[in-house]
Amino acid sequence: IRVRPLTCTETRRGDRRVVHSLGDGTVHVSATSPLGSGGLQHPLSRRHPRIQVSAARHDATFGFSAVFDAGASQEAVFEGSGMRQLVELAIDGFSCTVFAFGQTGSGKTYTLMGPLAQSETPPAAPGLLGLMQRSFACLLEQSRSRGSDLALSASYLEIYNEQVRDLLSPGPPCTLPLRWSKTRGFYVENQLSVDFESLEAIADLLLQGSQRRRTSAHALNRHSSRSHALLTIHVRSRAGGQSITLSTRVPQPSACPSKQGTLCFVDLAGSERVKETGSSGELSVEANNINRSLLALGHCISLLAQPRGKRTHIPYRDSKLTRLLARSLGGSGITLMVACISPSSRCLSETLSTLHYASRARRVTTRP
Ligand code: ADP
Ligand code: MG
Repeated sequence: IRVRPLTCTETRRGDRRVVHSLGDGTVHVSATSPLGSGGLQHPLSRRHPRIQVSAARHDATFGFSAVFDAGASQEAVFEGSGMRQLVELAIDGFSCTVFAFGQTGSGKTYTLMGPLAQSETPPAAPGLLGLMQRSFACLLEQSRSRGSDLALSASYLEIYNEQVRDLLSPGPPCTLPLRWSKTRGFYVENQLSVDFESLEAIADLLLQGSQRRRTSAHALNRHSSRSHALLTIHVRSRAGGQSITLSTRVPQPSACPSKQGTLCFVDLAGSERVKETGSSGELSVEANNINRSLLALGHCISLLAQPRGKRTHIPYRDSKLTRLLARSLGGSGITLMVACISPSSRCLSETLSTLHYASRARRVTTRP
């Protein structure tokens, strides 16, 4: 769980902090502290001060593997979330996924990428770089220390209005078909994958791709993303790569099995209610598509959270998002979910729903 600080706007209009980290991985949400304008108060408790109806309803404590409060640095999130271990597992050949989810403006993109760098503005200070750039650095460091035994490539997609688009191919974004095969599971046909060897190269791909993402300005966040974005790093490694000499072009599978891991970063579009963001027309079509795929994701997670014996069919086919994430969610992958929340009293109900969603997600087990 990551709680962002109150923004200047929120402080200026007098929003209160209703989310507090208690240490030990617990987070406490309480609307009982003096109520701000956006706080919830039951009419009964206003008339009869001794009846604390709303207090009982909106006082909740949740437990998670890690909680990062407003003061936590980007580095603390990287080190404390298990992200470094995830990078190492990807090198070892596992499919690893990091999700950021939560309401629009809750800090998903910030957590993954740091403050959004536009090409005109100077790049963000190193301390503010997000989980992605820190993982790339870690990956390249490992690659160097292993004597360039790793081959790295990246692909970057967005799902916008239930269409999959390539963010790395030049020109206007083209729609790609999503297919299924027995051997590969769900996959995107003709998706561009770009090799990279340096930190600059991958940072550049990330910047180019994120500038192509569909964003639109609405009330909650000026740079709010209207699409789900998936950046996948493919890590191919050969155990004992040095043993493949030029004369033996064909690697012996038994002597040096090649491993192929992936590290996928998923920046989900914000969950939000149409009314709150002032969406209309085209925007509300977007919002409905976003909410539909998030709902499908939530549904899959709820079913996956059931004990194995009781599990029924998981409806991955309900949305493009769940198809693409099928392997990360239920298969053999290892997944880190970062739930981002705002501390503001005005976001109370969205915050509670994110926390419930995250609690369900926590019960899902995979078999790496
Ligand atoms: P989302 O991607 O969830 O819509 P953003 O990541 O764009 O939200 O964050 C919304 C705003 O809050 C941005 O201006 C961002 O810089 C700021 N912000 C988010 N998280 C933090 C944080 N942990 N520390 C400081 N500012 C943050
Ligand atoms: Mg975002």
